[in-house]
Amino acid sequence: MRTYLTTIGLEVHVQLKTASKMFCTNSAEYFGAQPNSHVCPVCLGLPGALPVANEKAIESVTRFALALNCRINKQSKFDRKNYFYPDLPKGYQISQFDLPIGEQGWLELDGKKIGITRVHLEEDTGKLIHANVNGEKVSLIDFNRSGVPLMEIVTEPDIESPEEARSFSKLIHQIARYLEVSNADMEKAGMRFDANVSIRPRGATKLGNKVEIKNINSFRFLEKALAYEIGRQVEILESGGKIIQETRGWVESKNVTVSQRTKETSPDYRYFPEPDLPPLVFEQAQIEALKNSLPELPAEKSKRFEEEYSLDKKYVRILTEDSNVAQWYEKALSLYSKEKSKILANWVVEELLRIIHDKNLIINGVPIEPAGLIELLTILDKGEINQTTARRVLVRMFETGNLPSRIVNEENLAQLSKSEDLESVVEEIIRENQKAVKDFKNGKEASIGFLVGQIMSKTKGQANPKTAETLVRKKIYGNQSGS
Ligand SMILES: [Zn+2]
Repeated sequence: MRTYLTTIGLEVHVQLKTASKMFCTNSAEYFGAQPNSHVCPVCLGLPGALPVANEKAIESVTRFALALNCRINKQSKFDRKNYFYPDLPKGYQISQFDLPIGEQGWLELDGKKIGITRVHLEEDTGKLIHANVNGEKVSLIDFNRSGVPLMEIVTEPDIESPEEARSFSKLIHQIARYLEVSNADMEKAGMRFDANVSIRPRGATKLGNKVEIKNINSFRFLEKALAYEIGRQVEILESGGKIIQETRGWVESKNVTVSQRTKETSPDYRYFPEPDLPPLVFEQAQIEALKNSLPELPAEKSKRFEEEYSLDKKYVRILTEDSNVAQWYEKALSLYSKEKSKILANWVVEELLRIIHDKNLIINGVPIEPAGLIELLTILDKGEINQTTARRVLVRMFETGNLPSRIVNEENLAQLSKSEDLESVVEEIIRENQKAVKDFKNGKEASIGFLVGQIMSKTKGQANPKTAETLVRKKIYGNQSGS
């Protein structure tokens, strides 16, 4: 079998987070609402209704395009994309054609530049629901989604594998959330993908015929659909067949792509400028101001976390995946000590985020403030409690919402960490383990570990090993030297 090279280009649709829809005043937050309860003459496409563009949506797309290193067109406009479909009441979609908001950008993915062809703004369509009513198969239409602002990001065919397509999509998702232009909520179809994929034998310069896979709504499905499609194309070429340029759909239940229609080309859509909306005109100063308002993006943040806090890549990746987590960590660190960046990262990643994950929470929904965790770590640092107890206290903080000092006091967790509480246990252990004591006196340093271990087990893990060790040394040397 010959080896084949894969070429993938993505179109990513991201629903924008705005209060109202793209061209009318209906609320854009329709998820879970009664069907057709968020509609008006504009988004129902009734004759004579006039659209008014949503300024926040335009600003969001412009900021996103800037984050993707795009050139912002000083003049852009809306166009009508004509096609007939039941969920499209006007018979056309307001989109952007030859003058999108942003063009010619790039995004770095694991050290490789992926070209961004364009970033444009359009409106979402309604939703078809195929149902069974009184034994009859019917198609119902819900127009709540009709007219919700949608950003489309189109890449150059620079993606070379299904895994890379998945990583790239995740990066887009991450940036959308960093910029707070979208919730990009995958479960609510807030982000959808179309992927163009072609293969060619290694050495061939001409790209193969491309197939478009439409409407994929998860990162995993995107990767699976592309992998399946590449396999299907290889099989056809190997058996001497030809790839037909067409649109296919991913059928999750069967794990296959199926042919839907032969691909339209832009003339089929008869694009023309939207006569009811004025062109968008940007001043250089406006563009500069938006550019300066961009927050620190994932790539910069990761780099800074690595350098400033000397954290390893795994922790950096986890801490910067969600900007809210990164912010939480930095807030906590500012209350602690920069020298302890690694200790804190360890607690946030291994303990805090683990509990958050287990309880299916988000960082902004947890009952623990950064100051609360730092109070816990300070008590731990002072030796009032040990590591094992500290972990227990953190869980109790989640359960009760109380501060660690209160939990430690009320639940008597500190008692065995104070010297006076350990005194009698230490004496007992020394009495019972005279051989180890003798070995230690003769220079066998490891014996101290054994003695501390005995104390830990006698106190069921609640002793502070540092206090215990100090006390053991004091008792032994005290007896020996009399000092
Ligand atoms: Zn409306």
